[in-house]
Amino acid sequence: MKTNYHTHTQRCLHAQGTEEDYIRAALEAGVSVLGFSDHAPFPDKDYGLRMPYEELDDYFFTLERLANTHASDIIIKKSLEIEYLPQYTSYYEALWETYSPDYLILGEHFFLDDSGRFYNITTQAEDTSVYLLYARAAAQAMKTGYFQMIAHPDIFAMSPFAWDRNCDAATDLILEAAAETGTILEFNANGLRRGIHDYPDGRRHMYPHPNFWKKVPGSGIPVIIGSDCHSPTQVWDECMHQSQAILQTLGICPITLLEDGSSQF
Ligand SMILES: [Zn+2]
Ligand SMILES: [Zn+2]
Repeated sequence: MKTNYHTHTQRCLHAQGTEEDYIRAALEAGVSVLGFSDHAPFPDKDYGLRMPYEELDDYFFTLERLANTHASDIIIKKSLEIEYLPQYTSYYEALWETYSPDYLILGEHFFLDDSGRFYNITTQAEDTSVYLLYARAAAQAMKTGYFQMIAHPDIFAMSPFAWDRNCDAATDLILEAAAETGTILEFNANGLRRGIHDYPDGRRHMYPHPNFWKKVPGSGIPVIIGSDCHSPTQVWDECMHQSQAILQTLGICPITLLEDGSSQF
């Protein structure tokens, strides 16, 4: 069964295609559940690479309308991918109350450390000790209960460093929190799309990183493959097949329905 719960749209200003375009591509690929999870805005500040706050109502309204229009062909789920920053607690509450999303995805591209310093994990890791700060923030986020899934949990591995003890410790922190909270781990196909790169310890994808995923079997934590598509052609592409093959090699059997991974639904 083909499903994908991680889909962007042109609203986030770095993806192509409307909601309708992604649904058409999903239908052509034989996808039976398509979850939209565009990059969520924050009410008071534009952190970049996300939909304008003014579009949030229309996004959910459009998804509701298209879910009804296509109800006999495909199941459309409505969601957002969002970072966790503790000062927005009332905003996460409001998102749940106002829009009743089917789920929320934690995509912790940026975070605050214990002293309130802001980091973007994709650009501001000066060394691997920052991965621990990311992992602590992600763990704190998972413990709030707002998020059913963590996108690309191993995104820290994209920084230009070799795998070391901090990487292991960050992985352990994330897996512990996911196990404790029942948060689903996403194996991110978009990381594969970003290609193979040179690292001090060899050539590899930025993420997913095998050393992270090797720790997952036996943990009991559910894993799902997310397309994280930023173009309709990526909804179900070669990288989705490749993700399935990699997980099989690692002895991980991914869930395909979000409901199978969590008792919260
Ligand atoms: Zn994006
Ligand atoms: Zn995404």
